[in-house]
Amino acid sequence: MFQGLSEKLQETFKRLKGKGKLKEEDVNEAMREVRVALLEADVNFKVVKDFVAKVKERCIGQEVLESLSPAQQVIKIVHEEMIELMGGASGKILIASKPPTVILLLGLQGAGKTTHAAKLANMLKKQGKHPLLVACDIYRPAAIKQLQVLGEQIKVPVFSMGHEDPTKIAQASIVHANQNGQDVVIIDTAGRLHINEELMTELREIKSAVKPHEILLVVDAMTGQDAVNVAQSFHSELGLDGVILTKLDGDTRGGGALSIKAVTGCTIKFVGIGEKMDAIEAFHPDRMASRILG
Ligand code: GDP
Repeated sequence: MFQGLSEKLQETFKRLKGKGKLKEEDVNEAMREVRVALLEADVNFKVVKDFVAKVKERCIGQEVLESLSPAQQVIKIVHEEMIELMGGASGKILIASKPPTVILLLGLQGAGKTTHAAKLANMLKKQGKHPLLVACDIYRPAAIKQLQVLGEQIKVPVFSMGHEDPTKIAQASIVHANQNGQDVVIIDTAGRLHINEELMTELREIKSAVKPHEILLVVDAMTGQDAVNVAQSFHSELGLDGVILTKLDGDTRGGGALSIKAVTGCTIKFVGIGEKMDAIEAFHPDRMASRILG
């Protein structure tokens, strides 16, 4: 994960440690390298600029430069600021006081929405919940079937009404959950190749009909800055409670993970790290920063 970024930052810090006492220009040089490494990892330009400025400001203080291990202090500051960048609450689903908890999953086609609907259901089932998966993606061929296959695999029931109106399906699924003792309803909505008004209108209708407790956007980390733009659009149109960043097991550079919170204000709640049903993790900014910095 984020191998290129990790290697570059580690090289910079190794050089810094080799210097012993640090001068202001050593810090400036290191920050130039950090800046390049972050930009190459496809982190948003403004995010990089603010991040480097903040780190530099903290590093150039007397206390750091005159400390016994200035390089360690610089690394510590980078670590702290990286946590801050990705910060916020991590992977928890807000459970409604009166069941069922309704989770609405949104995202573009191919982001991993259907897979993550099932992964979430599987995770919640292991936590003792009784989830119901709901097939509201009525456009993509085989999306309903895909959800049913995954549901069977993890032994979670799937509610579908074929190609009926998605808002009606969503509403009916809550009645069904109430009647059958299912305490979490996870709605897999339709995606599109691109964001368009038709999609947003449909999602707004579902949202106002079922009043979800959690609206989670599924975005593909491999798409870098696009993932950030998609998150921003969905957030401004629908108000997101969090993001699930998928495909972090692939050869992704890190731009999504490091920019989404800073650009959109939305926290990443979960990350997808594979195609299997247990390949989902709560997102912990501190652990992610440690992974990146080695
Ligand atoms: P949807 O169109 O958003 O519902 O996307 P799908 O759930 O059908 O996922 C699209 C493809 O991405 C499928 O082949 C999934 O197996 C794959 N996929 C989903 N999440 C992950 C992940 O975290 N890692 C990897 N490597 N593949 C994933």
